[in-house]
Amino acid sequence: MKDDHCIFCRIANGEIPARTLYEDERFRVILDNGPATRGHALILPKEHYADIYALPDDLAADAMVLARKMAGRMHEKLHCDGFNIVQNNGTVAGQTVFHFHIHLIPRYKGDGQTIGWQPGSPSAEELDQTLQDILVE
Ligand code: AMP
Ligand code: ZN
Repeated sequence: MKDDHCIFCRIANGEIPARTLYEDERFRVILDNGPATRGHALILPKEHYADIYALPDDLAADAMVLARKMAGRMHEKLHCDGFNIVQNNGTVAGQTVFHFHIHLIPRYKGDGQTIGWQPGSPSAEELDQTLQDILVE
């Protein structure tokens, strides 16, 4: 399904031009137009899913295989020193476009970017409670 009001639907389906690195039946991979680093790219499914919760399993699997292939290609061509794969869900997590996408971010020594978090220090009881809350039986 496609949403005519969604910019990533329109880009993924070729209605709005973008710098396309790769395309197949299910995905388009484009250069991010506000890149964190040289080569920062986005994997866009051609179908509209708002976020990871909405994603069908087979598309999720294909997206990760594509991320691996693109990372290998970009590492080879850009000679980056590292690589972040980032995927944001929800405003609080930094999502600004509500069409599922995966960020491919090549990293270079001294690139000045930070993708991270402040480590917490929960008690053993808090960790145990969290474990119980999430545990997949
Ligand atoms: P997120 O914050 O995870 O939703 O990521 C959205 C990303 O899309 C940002 O990194 C933007 O720079 C990028 N972006 C938004 N519009 C465009 C566009 N028209 N072409 C390329 N990248 C875009
Ligand atoms: Zn969309």
